[in-house]
Amino acid sequence: MGRDMARTLKRWGGGGLAVVVAALSLVISAPSPAEALDIPEGHGAVIAIVIDDVLDNRKLDAFLELDAAITYAVFPFSRGGAHASERIRKAGGEVIVHLPVTSRRSRTSGRKLGPGWPAAAVEAFVERALASVPGAVGMNNHKGSTTNVRSMRRLMAALKERDLFFLDSVTVENTVGYAAALEAGMPSRINNIFIDGQGSVLSARRSLVRLARMAAAAGSAIGIGHLQRPSTAAVLREFIPLLKAKGYVILPLSQVTSVPNHWTRNVPRTLPK
Ligand SMILES: [Zn+2]
Repeated sequence: MGRDMARTLKRWGGGGLAVVVAALSLVISAPSPAEALDIPEGHGAVIAIVIDDVLDNRKLDAFLELDAAITYAVFPFSRGGAHASERIRKAGGEVIVHLPVTSRRSRTSGRKLGPGWPAAAVEAFVERALASVPGAVGMNNHKGSTTNVRSMRRLMAALKERDLFFLDSVTVENTVGYAAALEAGMPSRINNIFIDGQGSVLSARRSLVRLARMAAAAGSAIGIGHLQRPSTAAVLREFIPLLKAKGYVILPLSQVTSVPNHWTRNVPRTLPK
């Protein structure tokens, strides 16, 4: 094969790929009337959308361009976290700390909140975490266990002292984070649905319809998506105008955490004796 031929093929191949990518993005961004019809009238119901797992500035743009006030859960102790937090806040977004937590014994100087830490260590951990995510107004947990009663009590005491709220991501069914926050008498809610748990465009659309239904029935609902899921920003771009047109209001999480929660799934509301 001559060099020219190879170059032509390469060029053709690149063009082909561009056409495929353009076609795919059309499919993703095209409105889907079927899903829109399934969204009940919102009558002013409130939806809060949280985007988890922010490490740095990468992949943020697609979300920051969305026409809605979104809350971002930024990992503490990450190199780019502080910069990403500033960027989000400048763009009008809200920032919370995305708490790494473990059920294993861990060093109190480490980066994952472990069980059995003394209150002073939990305090110091929260202080360090907040310093690395400037402007954070609350906290939610990354995957991991929030089942240790003593740990969660100490965590909530530290958050309450600083006027921060807690969103229990409900990564395990027997979480006690929410119950500990209620006991402490601080603003708290649970995640009502993971928007992109399955990873496909179709399942994200279905989850957003379910989120809208919960909000319509209860007055407000919270959904969590993930920065790393490529389809999430695209599906949100499609749904945000639909939700607004149906009468929903999309507010930052901090506006929702002090409103009572009617959708608690099977999440315990009281701590075990
Ligand atoms: Zn996470």
